[in-house]
Amino acid sequence: MEFIKAKTILTKVKYGNEWYGIDYNMNLYRGCSHRCIYCDSRSNCYHIDNFDIVRGKENALYILERELSKKQEKGVIGIGSMSDTYNPLEKQYEQTRGALKLISKYDFGVSIDTKSDLILRDIDLLKEINSKNNVIVKITITTPNDELSKIIEPNVCVSSKRLQAIKMLIDNGIFTGIMLNPVLPFITDKEEDIKKLVKIASEYGVKFIHTYMGMTLRENQRDYYFNELDKRFIGLREKYISYYGNRYNCMVPNYKKLYKVFTDECDKYGILYNMNDIIKAYKKEISNNKQMSLF
Ligand code: SF4
Repeated sequence: MEFIKAKTILTKVKYGNEWYGIDYNMNLYRGCSHRCIYCDSRSNCYHIDNFDIVRGKENALYILERELSKKQEKGVIGIGSMSDTYNPLEKQYEQTRGALKLISKYDFGVSIDTKSDLILRDIDLLKEINSKNNVIVKITITTPNDELSKIIEPNVCVSSKRLQAIKMLIDNGIFTGIMLNPVLPFITDKEEDIKKLVKIASEYGVKFIHTYMGMTLRENQRDYYFNELDKRFIGLREKYISYYGNRYNCMVPNYKKLYKVFTDECDKYGILYNMNDIIKAYKKEISNNKQMSLF
């Protein structure tokens, strides 16, 4: 693996902690090899050359430990917003596992975004952190259909494997849910698929599903996405262009109705979907934990 220089690893979140209650953010890798056709992180504005090649950050764990040891506020650290921290190289390099050990050592909480079942390797550390602070895991699932997930997220495990990973995490006491984001117009926006996913999620004990009924498209990412559409979804590029033009926010055509279908289904199965409720639920669970009463 190629390594790039990094001066810092942890960033204090600018927008307050309303996004899953996180206080800090970090990416231990640059780039991602999962090749999701819709990936926003390949947009020009992020200035990541050769996005599909994963690079590590040099001395990441040394820098992280230095930063953690100086922080007074033991907040929740978000991992994986710009690159899936459980990429195939993580098996060998264990940067994420090393970071989780440090997060536990310094009593911070963690919020992980991933599509990979490699996260199961670190259940021991997630449980350890969970006994002292807040832990939330969000696994992205955009379709209940494995064949479709292979097309739109080709280099990571299929949706059914991700659901099994969610079950395993929940069975181990980790507050885990689904990021149903993006919802791809004319591809994953079928009412029956949304209903099916919520129903299956309820059977797997999923705690929450958070969604955005659409996708974003911007420079570079749009070209990549359209080229992928040309390979597997003939004629859709033209449909997108006529429907959305150069728009950044591309909500699915029937997003209000679809969101209502989604929330009705979640209500039916007792699955949370509102961000504030999700934050309250996972932080409250921990505050009820005996070990947290020590704080
Ligand atoms: S897992 Fe996330 S960062 Fe990686 S390619 Fe897919 S959308 Fe992009």
